[in-house]
Amino acid sequence: MVTTDIKELWRQVLLRLYPTIRHDQFITWFADTGILRIDQGVVVIGVPNQFAYSWIAQPYQERLLEIAKVLDASILHTSIVVEPSLSNPDDTRKVLLTSIVPETKKVRKLPKKQEVRVTSGGAQDTVSYMLNPKYTLSNFIVGKHNRLVHAACEAVAINPGEQWNPLFIYGGVGLGKTHLLQSTGREVLKNFPEKIVVYFTAERFLNEVVEAIKRYNSQDFKARYRNVDCLIVDDIQLLADKDRTQEEFFHLFNELYNANKQIIISSDRPPKELAGIETRLQSRFEMGMVAEVHFPDYETRLAILQNKCTEQQVLLPPEVLDFIAYNVHHSIRELEGVLLQAIAQMRLENITPTVKSVGTIIRRLDRNGDLVGVTKEQIDAKLSVRSADDVINLVADYFRIPSSELRGTIRKREIMIPRQVCMYLIYEVLGHSFDTIGDHFSGRNHTTVLHSYNKVKSRLGRDSKLLQDIHALKKEMGL
Ligand code: ADP
Ligand code: MG
Repeated sequence: MVTTDIKELWRQVLLRLYPTIRHDQFITWFADTGILRIDQGVVVIGVPNQFAYSWIAQPYQERLLEIAKVLDASILHTSIVVEPSLSNPDDTRKVLLTSIVPETKKVRKLPKKQEVRVTSGGAQDTVSYMLNPKYTLSNFIVGKHNRLVHAACEAVAINPGEQWNPLFIYGGVGLGKTHLLQSTGREVLKNFPEKIVVYFTAERFLNEVVEAIKRYNSQDFKARYRNVDCLIVDDIQLLADKDRTQEEFFHLFNELYNANKQIIISSDRPPKELAGIETRLQSRFEMGMVAEVHFPDYETRLAILQNKCTEQQVLLPPEVLDFIAYNVHHSIRELEGVLLQAIAQMRLENITPTVKSVGTIIRRLDRNGDLVGVTKEQIDAKLSVRSADDVINLVADYFRIPSSELRGTIRKREIMIPRQVCMYLIYEVLGHSFDTIGDHFSGRNHTTVLHSYNKVKSRLGRDSKLLQDIHALKKEMGL
């Protein structure tokens, strides 16, 4: 929606902000606001005084920008400024809040400074989340196990409120439910910028109902969401045994459903198995499309890892990705977790992840799991070097110098660097102690070996030639 009418644009922004934050906060902080102008993609939002500025700027600026961008792609930034004339009741730049909030609620005037109840402001006062841009339907990797659920999400994004309503997605932890829900919500917004999409975790929904009951009546609660075109509730199983919340949800569900508004729900199990959730809700969940997310097959896991590497702009050895894909068995979250830890290690320590180092990360996450390819015997079987002598001979060959010089005491740069590399590799790959390593190098002591090791380690970060050499050597060792 590209509108040149800044008042209408602000109304549309507030209409979308309203269901996501507390009613009283909304009235208090947004009653006397308006868009002053749009200047080369920058929306200048006016607030009446410094006090309002300090309450709005930090917690809401980003949200406001997100919403404004959806409505008008040419918007690049928001800027919030104090405009005292906005406190004048007749300022025409302001939007009549009654066109946004339910009529049953009286619009409170902005309290004077000393009347303001100083609550948290910002994040804690939001009742639903904004959709996270990191989740998109296109960066969700589709394999045969999740083709159906992905197709259902795409269909919903193209025709919300029509064929697949409600869309109920279930499956185990870390299998992509939140990703699918959020990206479908975003896609709806992309296809229909005028629609209002609200995403709740069930927990937030629960809190919202509890608050609503405390502060106003349930009629108002429903009215608050009357404008929502697409309601998304994540992890509905958390509403088990919360009877009052379920009741509210039931009414809201019916109202939205009857008005052909899209509802998307996720759960860790299918509707019929939702113990503690009323049967009338269970049966409503089954009225549309019920789709399961499965743990993906090996090829899809590998594709997810490759995609993540591209996103992170890193290149990892194929056998390492292979190894992660093969050995992580529980969830995509864990799969990503291992990869991100490996990448972090690489960035911090400048060491390319190996099957061995990644094996350690996986072991830490899942102590009891059997790793394919990283039992000690299997690592050893893969390694072409078994002893310090093997490493010394390999490094000597690689740098084309006699191994006796590597072991010796000559202090020439072209010998010293390969010697340090050699010590580094014996420690890293074979895990020998600094003392025993010293024995292979003319009886050097522990401290000298440690010093050489540290030298290589610290230079890896700035010396790409050295990094390449280490890579190449490790490869020859079967890593
Ligand atoms: P759930 O909500 O089911 O517990 P999430 O949606 O939080 O799981 O997924 C966990 C992580 O795995 C997220 O970072 C998500 O982006 C990623 N993920 C899950 N499935 C896929 C997939 N098929 N393609 C790409 N990333 C995925
Ligand atoms: Mg989730």
